[in-house]
Parts: sequence; structure tokens; C-alpha cells
Amino acid sequence: MPRATVLTSNIVDNWRTLDALHPGATTAAVVKADAYGLGAAKVARALKIAGCQTFFVAYLEEGMALRKAVGKGARIFVLNGPMRGEVAAYRDAELTAVLSSELHLKLWSTAARGTCAIHVDTGMNRLGLPLAMIDTEATALRRLAPVLVMSHLACADDPKNPMNAAQRRAFEEVADTFPDTPASLANSAGCYLGKGYGFDLTRPGLALYGGTTPPANVTLKTGVVLESTIINVFKGRKDTSVGYGATYSLSEDRLLATCAIGYADGLLRAGSGKLKGWIDGVPCPVAGRISMDLVTLDITDGPKGIKPGAHVEFLGEHAKLEAQAAACGTLGYELLTGLGPRVQRNYR
Ligand SMILES: *Cc1c(COP(=O)(O)O)cnc(C)c1O
Repeated sequence: MPRATVLTSNIVDNWRTLDALHPGATTAAVVKADAYGLGAAKVARALKIAGCQTFFVAYLEEGMALRKAVGKGARIFVLNGPMRGEVAAYRDAELTAVLSSELHLKLWSTAARGTCAIHVDTGMNRLGLPLAMIDTEATALRRLAPVLVMSHLACADDPKNPMNAAQRRAFEEVADTFPDTPASLANSAGCYLGKGYGFDLTRPGLALYGGTTPPANVTLKTGVVLESTIINVFKGRKDTSVGYGATYSLSEDRLLATCAIGYADGLLRAGSGKLKGWIDGVPCPVAGRISMDLVTLDITDGPKGIKPGAHVEFLGEHAKLEAQAAACGTLGYELLTGLGPRVQRNYR
């Protein structure tokens, strides 16, 4: 079976590394989508022991499960905010609702409510109250006693993009309108943009798990090792081809190995013919198409004496998350959150 070994101590170290970038700010942890596929309960518990007291998830249900996992005393923000009929559930689980629409404000005008945060749209056009409302409705919004005002950067992974500074300037006005309320703007990549982006609270997600492309002064550790096992080693004869669609032609005899992992496990089919697997630290190319449960590697130039039972690393110290994702034409976000339910998660 494919295995994902989640290195919780490395995730904690990454949290500390990100925390050190903004000494004046609190560093939260975004653990939505089951901590990007790695297991929100285990990851959040490890971070809480290390001193992280603020977590973000996307859905109410994720928040309720996380509350059970980490117990009382941590603040849990729910980014998508409440739908009709959910307000009391937020209060009962002591979840902080992130209010980002007129409907949210309407739902929150009830006695059943708990704590809230206010999300302002500074240019992403996805979620958030319009900037104009911050001026016109400032008094009404203050009456909700938000514990955080926040916004989200659209282009933080592109440090040269002028939209970053424009959003920061717009958000500074929001923060000034709520001088007694902590403010938060930066996701992982936002943490790399410099001091002006830290505000009172940062919200890294992917970087905790070893993803993103940090600047030279920031070194992140591997968050997860994805491995599986070779189940067949054989000679592929000259003038034959490998796999579905016969896309990989052998112009000479090659040594091939079949590994038990496929796109049902999250090894994206788009990585066919591009992805590599590492055996004993040596990269071996994927030969032909990735199947649902299997992938064939060309191990001719790999380490000598590979036998069934040998391990192949598809994510880890050698198989870097962002490089593997790029080989599949996607981002670390999608590769991690796509790891299938069949992948056994272990924690170290
Ligand atoms: C997902 C998310 C984050 C974390 O983003 P990363 O790029 O993974 O660090 C932060 N804030 C909001 C609003 C998000 O939706």
C-alpha cells in the first residue's frame, strides 16, 4: 500500500520558522481540508503543544471536528462562514465565524451568535465585505465585536505583482478603522513579502507542510514522505512499449519496475512520462502513463540490484513537493490535497 509519513516535528519546525519572520505577530495554522490532506487532528495537536493557539478551517463541520481534537482553549476560525441554521452550532462549538457577506451579517444579527471575525475584500473578488462598507457600516460592524479583521492576498506567490502592495494599502485602512481589533492579511507566501504584511496575525497553510517557494533566507522542512513498493522488476524488450496507450516506446532493452501506486492514490495522471520516483536517493523516470493503481518506472539507470519490495519515494527529501507538482502541471496545494483515502497516513 502507498504510505504517507507525516513528519509532525518538521511541520512544527516550519511553523516556528514562519513565526520568526514576523516577530510582532501571532502565527496561526491553516488546517483546512484535513490539514491539506495530512490529518488535521494530529497536525493541530502537535502544533498546539508547540504553542500554536489559533487555527483556521474552511467549513463548520471541519471546525466541529477540530474542536473535538484540540479541546478548549484554542481559537478556531471558520473561513467560509455560516449558512442559514448554523449560527447556534458555531456558538456551541465555540467556533469563530468569519463573516464575509451581507447574508453573514444578517445571520449574525441574532442573540444565538458566538464570536466572529470580519473578512474584507481588498481586491481578490472571492469572499469578503466590500471595502466601501467598512466606512459606511463601521459602527454596526464594531457592534459585532469582531476578534479579527482579515483580508486575503490574490498574488502573494508573485512578489513583484503590484497587487500585493495595493491590497496591503487598502487593508491598512481597514486595520486603522478597527484600531482595537487584531488584523490579518498574509497566507504562506504573504509571510515572505516583508514586515509590512505581517500585521497582528499570519495565516500560513501550505508552507507548514513544506510547500511554497520560499525566498533564499527561509528554509522549510519536508512535511510528508509519500512512498510505495515495487512489486515487479523485469526486462522491457526492444521495440515494445509500456502502459496504456503504448506511449513509452523502447528503442532498446530497458530495465523496468512496476510500483504499487497510481492516480487513485493522488499520483496525478497528468504526471505521466514526466514525474520521477526516487529509489535509494536516485531519480527514476516514470515510463508511460500512470494507471489507477500502478506506475512503471524505468530503472535502467537507477541503483543496482533493485528487487520487488524496494521502496520508491514520490514525495520527500528527494522528491520535492513543488517540483513533483510542477511535473504534474499543478501546484503543491493540489498534489497534497489530492492524496487518496487509500494512502495510509503514519505520524512521526
Ligand atoms: C487557505 C487560506 C490560507 C492559507 O493559504 P496558504 O497559501 O496555504 O498559506 C490563508 N487564508 C485564507 C483566507 C485561506 O483561504
